[in-house]
Amino acid sequence: MSDIRDVIIIGSGPAGLTAAIYTARANLAPLVLEGEPSSTSDQPGGQLMLTTDVENYPGFPDGIMGPELMLNFRNQALRFGAEIDTVKASRVDFSERPFKVWVGDPEAAEPTHLANTIIVSTGAQSLMLGLPNENELVGHGLSTCATCDGFFFRDQEIAVVGGGDSAIEEASFLTRFASKVTIIHRRDEFRASKIMQQRAFDNPKIEIMWDTVVEEYLGEGQIRGLKLRNVNTDEVNDVQFSGVFVAIGHKPNTGLFAGQLDLKDNGYLITKPDSSYTNVEGVFACGDVQDDIYRQAITASGSGCMAAIDAERWLEDQHD
Ligand code: NAP
Repeated sequence: MSDIRDVIIIGSGPAGLTAAIYTARANLAPLVLEGEPSSTSDQPGGQLMLTTDVENYPGFPDGIMGPELMLNFRNQALRFGAEIDTVKASRVDFSERPFKVWVGDPEAAEPTHLANTIIVSTGAQSLMLGLPNENELVGHGLSTCATCDGFFFRDQEIAVVGGGDSAIEEASFLTRFASKVTIIHRRDEFRASKIMQQRAFDNPKIEIMWDTVVEEYLGEGQIRGLKLRNVNTDEVNDVQFSGVFVAIGHKPNTGLFAGQLDLKDNGYLITKPDSSYTNVEGVFACGDVQDDIYRQAITASGSGCMAAIDAERWLEDQHD
């Protein structure tokens, strides 16, 4: 077990690494548990590691690749003395201070780290269809974020998979760019609110394929369409699309904190209004793990800055 740290940051997307930059520059010598490489967005660098061009992050007028942007964040944190470990936290105990964090065997009697404050920035994952070649196609015609990637599909035909508010919101937004947007939904009625449904029905650029599931992504290295099956007739068709947006929901990475930090009904962490404070004093949360509304790199980054400042001031108050 190491000494008691001032700050441990769990998660290394834009929120966690921004918190690392700020706390490192405040001489708090943060330790970032950045996660371990995996095929999902629950990995070092977060969801931007699965993106190609990022054109809406201010400061990069020509755009930047998602992984390169995250490498820049990481290098900036290292430059100011943040320590970054490529490991996942396997267990936490926030019942008393100093807080305990385990890496590796969660059953180990002794925690791996002790800390006076914790910044939780474990992010969220877009739910995916789970089809073969899905991970390879993300950023190559397959996306989970219309705000981020809609611009790349000007005058093209695109598909949105899902039937909730997100799917309709994404589809409506995409009609600003696309020549046609087809919503593919597995049932014969939407889950979305009535007002959102009406928005889809009223939009002449939106077509709806009911009772339809995606069997396969077509295209190697780049999406060129979908193999679709009608669940009533079992009829299978290949349909050409230049882009496919999966909008079947998100899952915050909060499993580690269940029973310790307060969660909303949808599993996102609750932070106190206009702050990064959680229900446990000294534990702060930032980024997508506590944001089910905006879900942007820049908002995650901004909230990481808030968490760092909250943690720094809270530590100062303890010393006083
Ligand atoms: P959601 O409400 O859970 O809807 C997910 C949709 O994806 C459902 O239609 C579901 O189909 C479909 N789906 C799930 N798994 C699937 C799979 N494996 N294959 C095909 N389809 C699948 O998620 P959401 O739309 O992201 O919304 C989440 C929450 O945020 C909701 O409370 C929503 O109201 C809110 N939200 C609000 C707004 C707004 O008001 N502007 C915008 C976005 C989100 P089934 O219907 O058959 O289950």
